[in-house]
Amino acid sequence: MRFASLGSGSRGNALIVDAGDTRVLVDCGFSQRSASLRLSRLGVSADELTAILVTHEHGDHVGGVLALARRHRLPVYLTHGTRAAAWPREAALPDCRLIDGETPFSIGALEVQPFPVPHDARQPVQYTFSDGCRRLGVLTDSGSVTAHIVDVLRDCDGLVVECNHDPELLGSSRYPAVLRRRIGGNLGHLANDQAAALLTQIDRHHLQHVVAAHLSAENNRPHLAARALAEALGCTEDWIGVADQEGGFAWRQIL
Ligand SMILES: [Zn+2]
Ligand SMILES: [Zn+2]
Repeated sequence: MRFASLGSGSRGNALIVDAGDTRVLVDCGFSQRSASLRLSRLGVSADELTAILVTHEHGDHVGGVLALARRHRLPVYLTHGTRAAAWPREAALPDCRLIDGETPFSIGALEVQPFPVPHDARQPVQYTFSDGCRRLGVLTDSGSVTAHIVDVLRDCDGLVVECNHDPELLGSSRYPAVLRRRIGGNLGHLANDQAAALLTQIDRHHLQHVVAAHLSAENNRPHLAARALAEALGCTEDWIGVADQEGGFAWRQIL
């Protein structure tokens, strides 16, 4: 199993997970043209995708989903709440596969485990992926870390985890107070120290990859996110990956 990012941050998110001949995209906050260019950077054509999984209806996650799904006739997996919030017209998506947000399901070679997260969206979920042997956990857009999240992510071999902001930078940012409260609140986004605390609660022994994602360009710095996660893991900062808004990150293989 391997995974890569097409780009990550408040201006657009998309992650690709690949096992055998199954390739799924998690969210697509980029225009169809931009998504195709970003996919080609990873050596993938949009025609080779198997499905799109959506986490929630915010524009940085769904902006390009409809165009991509229509053009390439891709099934879109999402919760009822996300579908209703993003596409109130039920027929908008050509092939809509509703999930309940807690029950595992399979797409080709991938076993997918959705799990609910606290975020200010209608029915937001995040996902873990398994090829039957290894497991990748993905967690972004979560205002806090619940006991259930810790439980679901306990045994991962790879982890993509939100490091949205540094609390000090957020506190002194030029954002209006109401927005700062939303981002830092329990239904907002994970701070570096919250992501680090999560790492101390899971089994770290077989983690082959940890990548910080969904960094705020205003309220975080890549080295602050890497330092927080490295301290929690007792590793060097350069072992931690940091997803970039433009570049995402290159393929990472889980062995
Ligand atoms: Zn987001
Ligand atoms: Zn969001």
